[in-house]
Amino acid sequence: MAREINLIVVHCADTPDGRPQTVADIDAWHRARGFHRSPRFKTAFNPSLTSIGYHYVIYVDGTVHTGRHPDEVGAHAVGHNHDSLGICLLGQSRYTAAQWDALRNLVNDLLIEHGGKQTTVCGHRDLPNVHKECPGFDVDTWRAAGMVAEAAHLLTA
Ligand SMILES: [Zn+2]
Repeated sequence: MAREINLIVVHCADTPDGRPQTVADIDAWHRARGFHRSPRFKTAFNPSLTSIGYHYVIYVDGTVHTGRHPDEVGAHAVGHNHDSLGICLLGQSRYTAAQWDALRNLVNDLLIEHGGKQTTVCGHRDLPNVHKECPGFDVDTWRAAGMVAEAAHLLTA
């Protein structure tokens, strides 16, 4: 049975803006932090990834890569993992045009595929007791503006 999704949380990897990294890199960082995936899901979905806490990672070239299965509980938002999906943008606060396009498309697709009437989209920093800037921009402002990049958060070559 599909997991009920009530929340989509946008994160950043806290890597230098524009620097290419991979899901394998994030997997290694999360392994070092003691995260581990459910064996049941790992066997059938991205078996090379043992630990990654996110469901989706958006690379600097705008490609979207999967981590955990959508029905697998993530490890990205303390207290909210059971009914949420986690998206991670590579970078800290400025993202490429391709990343902004990918984020808009991914959030829209996830709301259609997994969302219900109650599903909300927020930044990690919007959750209670989160004392960091992740994902480095205001998700409500971005959505209200039609999900286009704010100039201050657009990384240009
Ligand atoms: Zn975060």
